[in-house]
Amino acid sequence: MSKKEIIVGIYWQIDDELLCNKEVAEIKESTFEIFDDNGKCIQTVEYKKDNVSRISSTFGHDSIWEKFYTRKYKNADYATHPRGRVLYDLQNNRHIIFADKCVTQDNILKLVEAFEIGGSEYTVERDFHYMCDKCVADYEEDNGSIFDD
Ligand SMILES: [Zn+2]
Repeated sequence: MSKKEIIVGIYWQIDDELLCNKEVAEIKESTFEIFDDNGKCIQTVEYKKDNVSRISSTFGHDSIWEKFYTRKYKNADYATHPRGRVLYDLQNNRHIIFADKCVTQDNILKLVEAFEIGGSEYTVERDFHYMCDKCVADYEEDNGSIFDD
């Protein structure tokens, strides 16, 4: 009873396609556990005791980029293309999709599918942390905002 599985992770949007790296988390009464691809538990968090309000993937964009994508996308680093992170908000029991503003609405809906959020509530949020090269350039020239206009 009172055990729930959700998916968290990170993603990029490259030429309109999504690259997703996902991890499964199991939420229990007072702890959550994050599992790797082989079903091995790699992190246990006592979220009630430690006042942790969100589940976030253990993946970092920089290390995952190095590991899987750097050879394929030679002229890019982890911050070149639009990227974001899918978390789970333990207080409101819903996912949070952090997205660069270049991530299309179509792809937001594909993320909802890929992270199996469909049918549940979620919010889409912006963060200075998730800005692609284009957004950074726009921002520095002061003709853009990370938020929707
Ligand atoms: Zn952008």
